[in-house]
Amino acid sequence: MPKIINYNPANIKEIVSEHEVSTSQELDAMLEKSTKAFKIWSVMPAPKRAQYLMKANAIFTERKEELSLALHKENGKPLEEARGEIQEIIDVFDFFNGEGRAIYGMTGQSEMPDKAIMTIRQPIGPAVFITAWNFPAAVPSWKAAPALIAGNTFILKPSELAPLSGKLFVDVLNEAGLPDGVAQVAMGAGEVGEYLAKSDHTKIVSITGSVAVGRHVAGIAAAGFKKCALELGGKNSTIVLADANQELVADGILWGAYGTGGQRCTSTSRLIIDKAISGPILEKLKTQAAKFYDKDKKQSAINYAPIISLKQLNKIHGMVQAALAEGAELVCGGEILDDGSHQGYFYAPTILKTKHGMKITKEEVFGPVLAVMEIDSTNKTQEEVLEEALAISNDVDYGLSNSIYTKDVNLGMKAVHRFESGLVYLNAPTIGAECGGASLFGGWKNTGNGSRESGVAAFETYTQYKTIAIDYSDSLQRAQID
Ligand code: NAD
Repeated sequence: MPKIINYNPANIKEIVSEHEVSTSQELDAMLEKSTKAFKIWSVMPAPKRAQYLMKANAIFTERKEELSLALHKENGKPLEEARGEIQEIIDVFDFFNGEGRAIYGMTGQSEMPDKAIMTIRQPIGPAVFITAWNFPAAVPSWKAAPALIAGNTFILKPSELAPLSGKLFVDVLNEAGLPDGVAQVAMGAGEVGEYLAKSDHTKIVSITGSVAVGRHVAGIAAAGFKKCALELGGKNSTIVLADANQELVADGILWGAYGTGGQRCTSTSRLIIDKAISGPILEKLKTQAAKFYDKDKKQSAINYAPIISLKQLNKIHGMVQAALAEGAELVCGGEILDDGSHQGYFYAPTILKTKHGMKITKEEVFGPVLAVMEIDSTNKTQEEVLEEALAISNDVDYGLSNSIYTKDVNLGMKAVHRFESGLVYLNAPTIGAECGGASLFGGWKNTGNGSRESGVAAFETYTQYKTIAIDYSDSLQRAQID
């Protein structure tokens, strides 16, 4: 039977976990179970469902360190970041458990006497979650918490590159006593995701991944008239105006561009900066970036993540090489630090001076590479510089996250309204979305199809509306006729 072998990308000699790929018979059995469980779970009152999920949250809290360690090893991200990711599960469940009492509908006014009209929200049916490897614990929770509290069941198909955290996530839910079949996990690569998405049992498909795969899965969902949520790639930018706090900018860019090794959908991959201040900021970034990896000892700093696979390492390097061939100027990095022959897959934190329009300024790299575009502000007002910066920022096919650093509140507010993305930040990096409440996660343009995760809008994916008309007139009343 084919197996998934899950290596630690920071130390590829270490096998973190092994999983059998789910067979089509096993997938069929899971799908049937999911449909059966939906019949029980969907009619349970939401506050009762919340009781199960609160129990699960107590287990997540109790086992936080163990789950963080597993995540840290399978995906390579620093332990501190892994702990933050497990905390995100806890926070997301905390939020949605309360929301179980607030899946509001509406009541309205009938056109006719003695008639009441109301609309309620109901679950849709079994969901399939297909997820990426870079947030293998938090992203399943963004999907599962609203789906479950709203009364849906699910099968998670985690990335074949980091399957353990997804499995442990589902294990905890089942340990909390969820009825059999409410939460399941299937193992495998794209074909397993595709099989599950195509099944008639599946009524919702939610995928987090690349644009190409998302587009393909969206086609499958559309053919089956399934609810579909797409959370895809990004090409995020930070604009820096001349009056910005330069220390804050440097700290923000370092975290935004190199946190998780630049492998976040929200990673800062473009810096659009007033040329008048770019020199000292780039110098600071270069100095700090050099500390992420000790080349002599071939050792990464504790806060620097490896690249997930050799394939991705080579892809990143190929994109940097192509940028140089296209005329980009190397400020620092631009090299493979370890191709696994010493310990793990590491790429140097890279800064390239580029011109807008080069491939590296338009396509997602998904690695620690920052493309800098300087704006010559000579004889220009700050408004003019901002206009130029926004035109560059918005001229990409993606629309996930953008940020601006300035102390000028008018320019800052203008920018946050004009950025074409689902997330925007003022005086903060492009990463670090919070969960719950008014904080909705998702993108514009090719980053998605309008769905949102982690906040209340997630219920748009996991509920459907039902309008109920109650006629207590004891007569036939004909709308628009009588
Ligand atoms: P990917 O698209 O290669 O894979 C994503 C998932 O899709 C995996 O589970 C994979 O097995 C599955 N898959 C692949 N082919 C499939 C098919 N034909 N049918 C069904 N499923 C299929 O992405 P990745 O490399 O795992 O993750 C990186 C990408 O994810 C980046 O583009 C990143 O920006 C994006 N991402 C987006 C968000 C977001 O919320 N917007 C969050 C994290 C990552």
